[in-house]
Amino acid sequence: MTAVNAAADLSLEGDVAVLTIDSPPVNALSERVREGIRDGILRAQADPAAKAIVLICAGRTFIAGADISEFGKPLKGVSLPEAQAAIENCSKPVIAAIHGTALGGGFEVALVCHYRVAVPSAKLGLPEIKLGLIPGAGGTQRLPRLIGPEAAAEAILSGTPFSAKQAKAWGVVDELVEEGKLREGALAFARAAIASGAALVKVRDRDDKVAPARGKPEIFVGLRKAHAKKNRGFEAWTRALDAVRDAVELPIEEGLKRERAAFMELLVSQQSKAQRHVFFAERQVWKIADIADDTATLPIRRVGVIGAGTMGGGIAMNFLNAGLPVTIVETAQGALDRGLGVIHKNYENTARKGRMTDAEVESRMGLLTPALDLAALGDCDLIIEAVFEDMGVKKEIFAKLDKIAKPGAVLASNTSYLDIDEIAASTSRPGSVLGMHFFSPANVMRLLEVVRGAKTDKPVLATAMKIAKQIGKIGALVGVCHGFVGNRMLSERQREAQKLILEGAMPWDVDRVLYDFGLPMGPFAMSDLAGLDIGWSKERTSSSTIREILCEQDRRGQKTGAGFYDYDAQRNAKPSALVEKIILDFAASKGINRRAISDQEILERCLYPMVNEGAKILEEGKAQRASDIDIVWINGYGWPVYTGGPMFWADGLGLDKVLAAMKGFEAEMGEDFKPSALLEKLVAEGRGFKDL
Ligand code: NAD
Repeated sequence: MTAVNAAADLSLEGDVAVLTIDSPPVNALSERVREGIRDGILRAQADPAAKAIVLICAGRTFIAGADISEFGKPLKGVSLPEAQAAIENCSKPVIAAIHGTALGGGFEVALVCHYRVAVPSAKLGLPEIKLGLIPGAGGTQRLPRLIGPEAAAEAILSGTPFSAKQAKAWGVVDELVEEGKLREGALAFARAAIASGAALVKVRDRDDKVAPARGKPEIFVGLRKAHAKKNRGFEAWTRALDAVRDAVELPIEEGLKRERAAFMELLVSQQSKAQRHVFFAERQVWKIADIADDTATLPIRRVGVIGAGTMGGGIAMNFLNAGLPVTIVETAQGALDRGLGVIHKNYENTARKGRMTDAEVESRMGLLTPALDLAALGDCDLIIEAVFEDMGVKKEIFAKLDKIAKPGAVLASNTSYLDIDEIAASTSRPGSVLGMHFFSPANVMRLLEVVRGAKTDKPVLATAMKIAKQIGKIGALVGVCHGFVGNRMLSERQREAQKLILEGAMPWDVDRVLYDFGLPMGPFAMSDLAGLDIGWSKERTSSSTIREILCEQDRRGQKTGAGFYDYDAQRNAKPSALVEKIILDFAASKGINRRAISDQEILERCLYPMVNEGAKILEEGKAQRASDIDIVWINGYGWPVYTGGPMFWADGLGLDKVLAAMKGFEAEMGEDFKPSALLEKLVAEGRGFKDL
C-alpha cells in the first residue's frame, strides 16, 4: 500500500487497484480528500498492472458528504468537479464500494463512478436541501438520468436518504454485497467486470430515463404544485426542481453549469446560512458547559408519569415508543380510562395510516401499567409529573414522591411556568429534581426544555439530556425563570398581539403577518386551536378582556365552532364580523383611538420584544447560548428554520436596527420595550449574538 496523500492510499490486489480514502471521522470531502481521489485515480490509470479501480473508504462510512466547515470559504486546491472528472474520464472501470452513508458530495462522487456496489445497510442520498442548497456536483443531473425526473425530484426535494436496497431496485447500485464483506465483494465485482470486458458506463450518457419526460412541462408544473405547501417560504426547492428539469431538457454540460451556478448562488444566501447555523446549533445544544461529556448517567429502565391528561399521555407515549415500560398514575378511574383510551386511539390512528402494525400497537400498550396510587412508582428510575399547573398540588405530589421514589430516582416536573426550586424544596433530595418541559402534542413536538434547578445534580441533568436523545427529542438546557426560554419569550409576543388588536389591527391582520413571516399560525389562530377557555371560569369572568368576552359568548375556539374566527364544518377559519364589533366596542369603552397599523409595525412589535427577551435570558444565564434559543423556537413553536431562529434572524437584520426600533417604541409606548443591557452592549461593540 502506498500513500497518495495524507487522506488516500493506493494498493494493487492482483489486477485491481484499490484506492482507499481514510480521513476520519467521516471521510468528508475536504481539500485533501479531493486531491487524494484525483491523484489516486490518475496514478492507478497510469499503472499498466491495474485493469480496474475500486474506490472504497476506511472507517465507519463511505464519503459521508461535503466538508461543511469549508462552505463559504474560498476554494483551495483540487475542486470536487476536477476530482470527479478524473474518475468519470478514467479509461478503466471505477467501482464505488459503499458502506455507511454516501450523502451529498459523497453520493455525487459515487455517481461519476462507472459502477456502484454497496452493503445492504448503506444509505445514499442528496440532503443538500436541508441546508438550503441544491446538490452542486452533478447530483441533480445524474440522478434523474438513473431513476427518472419524478423519483429524483422526490429524493432531492425531501433530502431524505434512501437505503442501498432501494438504490439497487432503482438501478443506482449495481450490486449488493454481503454485510461486512464490502472489499471482497467489490474486488469480485471488479474482476468480473474485467473478465467480461464490461463497458465503462457513464451516467451522463444515459438518456432512457429522462427522454420520456422531455417536452412535457406539465410534469414539472405538477411537481411544483405537489411540493409547494410543505416548502412554504423556502427558496432552494424551486431551484432544485429547475435543475431536474434541466436534466431532462438540456445537454448535461449545460445542465451541470446551471446547477453549479444555482448552488453557488444559494451558498451565499441568507437562508442557507441560516439553515447551516441550525445544523450546527442542533449539535451544540447537547453540550452543557460545566458537565463533561463522559459524566456517568443514571440507568433509566422504568418511567413513571403522573397525570394522564393532555401532556401526561403524550409524554408516556414517547417512552413506550422507545421500548421503555411506563407506569401512569391518575387520581380516579374515569380519568385513567380516558387517558389510556386517548393513547390507544393515537396508536390505532397511526396503525390505520400504515405506519405501525397492530402487533406494535399491542406491544406498546402492553408496556403501559395504569395505577391510581403514587405508591406504584416505587420502582421507577425517572418520574415525570404532569398534573394541573398549581404549585400547591405539585408540592404535595413531590413531598409524597420523596417518600415513595427509590433513592437516586430522577424526579421531573413538566410545569410550564412554575419555580422548579420551590418544587424541589418540598423534597429532601433537591439534587434529584429538575424540569422536563415537553411541548404539546408531547408525542410529536421535538423540543424538550431541560430545566436546571439551583441544586440539580450534574448526573441528573446528564441523564435527562441522554434520555431526551433516546426518545428522539432535542434537549435544550434552560434555567429557572417564569416560562423558561420558550414561553417567556412567547409572553412578549402575546402581550403585543393583544395590544395591537385594541390599537387598530384585527386578529386576522396580526395572524397573516406572522404566518407570512413563516410561522405555522398566528397567535389568535393558535388560541382558537388551543381553546380560549384555558384558565377561564364562568364564575369569575368579568368581561375585562376580549378573550373573556368571547368565552362568555361561548366562542371558546375551534371546538365550539367559533373563537376569534368563525369556523365552518371543515374547521376553515373566516374573519368574524361579530368579533370585529366586539373589539371595536371594547376599544371604544376603553377610550382607545384606533389607528391604521402597518404590517411592518405588527411584525416588529410582535418579534423584536421576543429578541429583546432572548437577550435578557442570555444576560441572566437562563440559556447557555443564543443558538439554544433558536433551537427552542424552531422545535417548540415552528419558527421558520430558514431564518435560523429569532436570535440568528435578529443578527441578520442587524441588532442596531432592532435596538433603534425598540427605542422608538419605548419612547412612544413605554417600559414593555425597554432594551436589554445586552442588546445595548452588543450594538455599542458592533457585535451580534453569534459573537457571544
Ligand atoms: P390536563 O388537565 O390535561 O391533565 C392533568 C391531569 O392530571 C388530569 O387528568 C388530572 O386528573 C391529573 N391529576 C391531577 N392531580 C393529580 C394527582 N394528584 N395525581 C395524579 N393525577 C393528577 O393538563 P395538561 O395540559 O396535561 O398539563 C399538565 C402540566 O403540563 C401542567 O403543569 C401544564 O402547565 C404543563 N404543560 C402543558 C402544556 C399544554 O400545552 N397543555 C404544555 C407544556 C406543559
